[in-house]
Amino acid sequence: MKIENIEQKNFFSFDKNYSALVKFIKPSKFKELELISNSANDFINVGSNLSYSPLAFSKKSISLALKSFNRIISFDLEKKEITVESGITLAELLNFTLKYNLWIPQLPGYPLITLGGAIATNAHGKSCAVNGTIRNSIKDIQIFHKSNGWLNLSKDENKDIFELTLGGLGLTGTIVNVTLNLQNVDNTDFITIKNKVSSMEECIQMIKKKSNKKDSFVYSWNMASNISNLGKGIVFENIISKKEVSKKIKIPEKKNKIKFKPYFSLWNKTSISIANKIFFETNFLLNNKKESFIDVIFPFYGKESYFHFFGKNGFFESQFLIPDGKIDEFLDEFKYLFKIHSPVITLLSFKNMSGEQKYLRFEDNMICMTLDYVNNKKNKLFMSEIDKLCIKYNILPSIIKDSRLDKKTFENCYKNLVEFKKEINKYDVNRYYKSETSERLGI
Ligand SMILES: Cc1cc2nc3c(=O)[nH]c(=O)nc-3n(C[C@H](O)[C@H](O)[C@H](O)COP(=O)(O)OP(=O)(O)OC[C@H]3O[C@@H](n4cnc5c(N)ncnc54)[C@H](O)[C@@H]3O)c2cc1C
Repeated sequence: MKIENIEQKNFFSFDKNYSALVKFIKPSKFKELELISNSANDFINVGSNLSYSPLAFSKKSISLALKSFNRIISFDLEKKEITVESGITLAELLNFTLKYNLWIPQLPGYPLITLGGAIATNAHGKSCAVNGTIRNSIKDIQIFHKSNGWLNLSKDENKDIFELTLGGLGLTGTIVNVTLNLQNVDNTDFITIKNKVSSMEECIQMIKKKSNKKDSFVYSWNMASNISNLGKGIVFENIISKKEVSKKIKIPEKKNKIKFKPYFSLWNKTSISIANKIFFETNFLLNNKKESFIDVIFPFYGKESYFHFFGKNGFFESQFLIPDGKIDEFLDEFKYLFKIHSPVITLLSFKNMSGEQKYLRFEDNMICMTLDYVNNKKNKLFMSEIDKLCIKYNILPSIIKDSRLDKKTFENCYKNLVEFKKEINKYDVNRYYKSETSERLGI
């Protein structure tokens, strides 16, 4: 593949906080991937570029777009193993495996996310309290690296690079093939139980109590439009239906076309209050118990207007893992800062997470808190105050979600960073793979 095949366009982070004119190329054969790597020195991989933070591009790097690598290579029904190319989307993967009542349970919330992107960010789904992150479903990986060439990675082969690659933000080279250990899924319908909560503390207690059951996905939706209703909300429990499978489903493989994209943010204290009230009341009025696979697993599909309503400046998402012993102190300080700054928050949610934190991975046995903010000065100030609390209470902020996270907070919160840098610099002395995020955070 020649350097002339390189195209150029504006890439945006999903939160729209960062954009850049980016050189990109879309190889469709292994040979092309090898040839292009000889023509330049700065690369980064890109799947669907659906990351909130600019992880898959930078002003300096050529983005290697893996979308053409989306084939199913082999499938073993008896062993419940599938080998696929990394550019396959979750929708394409599930539309094949669900025919056999098989899946992986660690599915991030949008069907057009690629498997490569999910692995490089060590993504998790709603059942992360029981199923952890996607690395738990990965048997082996094949990668291509500019100077290290083709490598097979697994627990038995090149284990150190395997570990660096799971949640390694595409910095160890291009994931080309992946073998997944699939699991049975009895049904594609879910039964949803809804519980009212009146505070963040009550919500967390309920989530902790409910989230250890197998096959149930527990998370919350909480209000945060003003201090008087902060934390009031609903704990949802999605349980895989035990009834026999009635129909085969088809997950949408294409983007929804959104026509209405306002220039300014439609989200403000008043509109959020109204939207919250409607959401809260209708949930109990309709009390629909049965929910479809798409509504539960990919909740934002069909509801993309929520993101477009932030206007051209977009939004910020922050997600963090809070150690058990620090939750009460953190929430007290959070509420105190909330009263002072009165941030404009459109989404607040909690869930339980399980796993072991290592390297750059967003994973641990902790409570996970997620917040969406309108992109404005006041909110940025509030978020920088929360950054200080992350350092103070050993809270882990997500690199994947928060495009404004700074190097100081990151370095203080990711205790294994030094080890990650040591290992990756040993593996790739030239550090060929870089993104805006890896540069901003000094990885
Ligand atoms: C609506 C929405 C809901 C989401 N819900 C969740 C959720 O529930 N849980 C969660 O964990 N995340 C969630 N995410 C985040 C998402 O899972 C990650 O950002 C994911 O990486 C996006 O996949 P992508 O294919 O767009 O990857 P990109 O954004 O294109 O890339 C992400 C990273 O992966 C690397 N990468 C991509 N492909 C390869 C490859 N083949 N080889 C090596 N590196 C590669 C890139 O270099 C980059 O560092 C959500 C995102 C959206 C937009």
